[in-house]
Amino acid sequence: MKKILNLQCINCGREYKTNEVHFLCSSCGGNLEVNYDYKLIAKRFRVDEFCDNRNYDMWRYMDLLPINDHEKVPNVHVGWTPVYDNKIIAKELGISKLLIKDEGRNPTGSIKDRGSAVAVARALELGVKVIADASTGNASDSVACLTASLPIRTVVFTTKDAPFPKITQLLIYGAEVFTVDGSYDDAFELCKKAVEEYGWYSRAAGFNPFPREGKKTCAFELCEYLGWEAPDKVVCAVGDGTVISGLWKGFVDFQKLGILEKMPQMIAIQAEGSAAIKNAFENNGVVTPVKAKTVADSLLVNYPRDAQFALQALQESKGTALTVTDAEIIAAIPELARKANIFAEPAGAAVYAGLKKLAAAGLIEQDETVAIIVGGNGLKDTFTAKQILQKPDIIPADFESFKKTAKSKGLIK
Ligand SMILES: *Cc1c(COP(=O)(O)O)cnc(C)c1O
Ligand SMILES: [Zn+2]
Repeated sequence: MKKILNLQCINCGREYKTNEVHFLCSSCGGNLEVNYDYKLIAKRFRVDEFCDNRNYDMWRYMDLLPINDHEKVPNVHVGWTPVYDNKIIAKELGISKLLIKDEGRNPTGSIKDRGSAVAVARALELGVKVIADASTGNASDSVACLTASLPIRTVVFTTKDAPFPKITQLLIYGAEVFTVDGSYDDAFELCKKAVEEYGWYSRAAGFNPFPREGKKTCAFELCEYLGWEAPDKVVCAVGDGTVISGLWKGFVDFQKLGILEKMPQMIAIQAEGSAAIKNAFENNGVVTPVKAKTVADSLLVNYPRDAQFALQALQESKGTALTVTDAEIIAAIPELARKANIFAEPAGAAVYAGLKKLAAAGLIEQDETVAIIVGGNGLKDTFTAKQILQKPDIIPADFESFKKTAKSKGLIK
C-alpha cells in the first residue's frame, strides 16, 4: 500500500510497517495513527476533478483511505450524508451560518458506519474469519450490517445499557451477541481478551487505528460542501474520542495536501455524567476514569480509549470542551426535531444542546460558519425520547369523541 508511510504510536512515536501490528503499540500500549505519503497522494488527489466524480459515498475519498480497495465490502451506502443549512436555529442563536450534518442517514443510522466500513475493508484484506467489537450499540450495529452477507462471523460484546433497537439491529444482521453484565469498559476488556486469545480481528475504536480513518470522510464532505473550505467551528459529541479525532485527522489531511488554509476549531460536547475528556482537557491532559452515567448511551464511557488523540485535536485546533446535562439532552431531542426536522438519538441531540450553551456563553464569533455533527438517528433509542413526551390520547371510535379531544387541543373550534 504505497499511500501509507507507516503506523505510528501517538505515545512513544515508534513506527511500524502496515502489516507489522494491527492494534496497539507493542512497546508501550499506545494508540496507533496511520501516516500517509502526502506528496504521492497530492499528485492524484485533485479537487478540481471532483465535480466529475460520481461516487457519492465515502469511497469518493479512496486516495486518503488506508485500504487498497473496497470492492468486497458489501455495497450499502455509507457517507455522503446530507448537510442542512439551518436558518431557524442560526437566527435564534445569532449564528451567521449553521450547518447540520445528519449522520443518522447512514445505513445503520450512525456515523459509526464510516469507521466500520474501513475496518471491514481491512479485515477482508487480511482474510479474517471473525471480527469482534465492544460497544453500547452503534459501532457494533455497523459491523454487523457490513459483515451480514460476508463469510465473516461478528462477535459483539455489549451491555445492558444498550437501547433495545440497537440490539435488535445486531440480531437481525446475524451477529453473535454477548450482553455483559457490567459497564462498556468491562465489555471492552472482555472483547480485548477474546481478540488476544483467539486471534480475532477487533474493530473496537481506540484500539484499532482504522475506524478513525473512515470517520475522517465526514470532515472531507463538510469541506467539499463548503467549496473546499473548513467551517470555523465543528461541534461533535464525544465518548471514546474517535469521532472528534477522526474529524480532526480529516481536516489535517486536507491541510497537508494544501487544500485548506484555515483550520476549524473542534468543540467537544460531553455528557455531564461522562466527561473524562473534558476533565482531562481542563487538567493538563491527565485522563482520570469516571463512573459514567448518562442517558446518551453512545457517550457512556468510564475511560475513553481515544483520549490522547481527542485531546490533541482540541489543543491543536484551539478548541474547547463543554458538558450538557441529561435533562438538557432529553429536552433537545424534540426541540431539534421541531426546528431542524431531524430526530436524533440522545448523543446526537446532545450536540444541539451543547451548541446552545456555546452560543449562550458568547463563544461563537460573528460571521462564523458552525457545523454540528448529529451522530445518530432517533429511531435507535425511542425509549429515552419518550420519557418527556405525553402519551397520545386514546379516544373511543366515534366522531363526537374525536371532536371533543380535538377541541381540547385547539385544533377546531
Ligand atoms: C460513537 C458516537 C459518538 C461519540 O463518538 P466517540 O468516538 O465515542 O467519541 C457520538 N454520537 C454518536 C451517535 C455515536 O454513535
Ligand atoms: Zn508506543
